[in-house]
Amino acid sequence: MLDKRIIESIEFDNQFVKNLPGDPEKNNFRRQVEGACYSRVHPVKTAGPKRIIHSKEMAQDLGFSEEFCESDTFVRVFSGNALMPGMDPFAMCYGGHQFGNWAGQLGDGRAINLGEIITPASGRQMLQLKGSGPTPYSRNADGLAVLRSSIREFLCSEAMFHLGIPTTRALSLVLTGEQVERDMFYDGHPKLEPGAIVCRVAPSFIRFGNFEIFSSRGDLKVLKQLADYTIKTDFPHLGEPCPRVYVKWFEEICKKTCEMIIHWMRTGFVHGVMNTDNMSVLGLTIDYGPYGWLENFDPGWTPNTTDASMRRYTFGNQPQIALWNLAQLGNAIYPLIQDASPLQDTINEYHRLYQIGFNDMMAAKLGLSAFNPLTDDSLIQDLMTLLAMIETDMTIFYRSLAHLDIDHLPEDFSKSDTDIQTFARPLMDAYYRPQQIDTPYREHLKSWLEQYARRIHSDPLSVESRRKKMNHTNPKYVLRNYLTQLAIEKAEQGDFSMIHELLEVMRHPYDEQPGKETFARKRPDWARVKPGCSMLSCSS
Ligand code: AMP
Ligand code: MG
Repeated sequence: MLDKRIIESIEFDNQFVKNLPGDPEKNNFRRQVEGACYSRVHPVKTAGPKRIIHSKEMAQDLGFSEEFCESDTFVRVFSGNALMPGMDPFAMCYGGHQFGNWAGQLGDGRAINLGEIITPASGRQMLQLKGSGPTPYSRNADGLAVLRSSIREFLCSEAMFHLGIPTTRALSLVLTGEQVERDMFYDGHPKLEPGAIVCRVAPSFIRFGNFEIFSSRGDLKVLKQLADYTIKTDFPHLGEPCPRVYVKWFEEICKKTCEMIIHWMRTGFVHGVMNTDNMSVLGLTIDYGPYGWLENFDPGWTPNTTDASMRRYTFGNQPQIALWNLAQLGNAIYPLIQDASPLQDTINEYHRLYQIGFNDMMAAKLGLSAFNPLTDDSLIQDLMTLLAMIETDMTIFYRSLAHLDIDHLPEDFSKSDTDIQTFARPLMDAYYRPQQIDTPYREHLKSWLEQYARRIHSDPLSVESRRKKMNHTNPKYVLRNYLTQLAIEKAEQGDFSMIHELLEVMRHPYDEQPGKETFARKRPDWARVKPGCSMLSCSS
């Protein structure tokens, strides 16, 4: 048993439950919960909890010692089998627009918030178990999570963090020792799978849908309480809540959301289910379900088979969908402001914000000191066309671009008969089907490189600074879909080594990491249409 002192030194300061109205019903059964932001509920005990992995960085941020993280107590607590003194577990009530339609009450159907810790390094942090049993918000589902989706959530949360993308975090991943039934593609083939629990961490898990639910019910009292609480807790610099401050708050959510999306577009991340219940008001990437990473650059790609026909949440649609979701949040908080025009202005401003942010991000990807509208609009547009012309791995292409000797591009390159495959050798790794490199493609690539070289020539950055900037912006390693799938297949056989190995590589995504190059390779052909690699569903 772990020293009691270690456990008791961790203090919980549960402001959410202390400050907001809770559900008076104490029994745990599925229901509509009105007039309350949360329902108290306990995690279900599990038969045979077993540790798989924890994130050292996250533990450190929380002030958890290695001794605690390696202890049995840690596994018991983060599998839902024991509560630490001061924990006051609850599930939140929220609603949401799913695939464009209002879905009514959703809520934490399989997430249980354990309590909030004030950390020295990162302020307030909520600990939340995902997959530890039903809550009043579980509707017709079981409140559980399976190993494959929990591995995906654990690894991606930490990978995103190391990539510098705002995200909820993951502290731990444990097996429950129990089996969970899932019909992976909703096609009448249910299977038993190992159950697992991730402990997620974020300053707050409040979503757009937390506000939408009260607004949709006309419960302006709780809507205001929740907005005021959120502003005071997570946006204290905005001042005392009042209509003017609600507008400022909305502006900040738009800005943070916009920044998050630009990071997704920079790294090729596709969320897969951008419903308003999966949008954090802190602008954090939240709810890792059927997400994926672009392999060949295809703006029309989504990994989510549930969205295969609508294609609402494709890579290229993400900026627009974020705006649509922000408009829903704007509608939800309108009753607090009673004036649509500042909200509308903020929504209109999003396009400008996004364009500026996108241009800056693209300039960094290309190693330019700053975006120049005179030349760079067409440089970027032509690059987008080029990338989509033939199957080109986005990550490898950008990373390799820094290795081209672009400063010594031969004179009149596009008209010369210089062999493109020789000059652009570093790029050749990026092509999935080299036979697609035909004459029109070669010509397009040559003329784009010429355009890029001209632009570089007029840019003040030195070769060194340019490469450095590019290598800080273009990751060498992303959490490739097939790699996670391989880690899952091994884990399902009881071998967790690849989860550890992937986390290790993803700790330094912008470094070269000699010996780890296999993790930077493009998707092998066997993974092209394999379930789990390029095809995922919401079943998790
Ligand atoms: P998602 O869009 O997958 O994040 O989930 C939509 C809603 O379904 C949320 O309210 C979740 O809490 C709920 N949900 C998803 N899976 C389960 C499950 N296995 N048990 C209970 N609720 C679930
Ligand atoms: Mg969700």
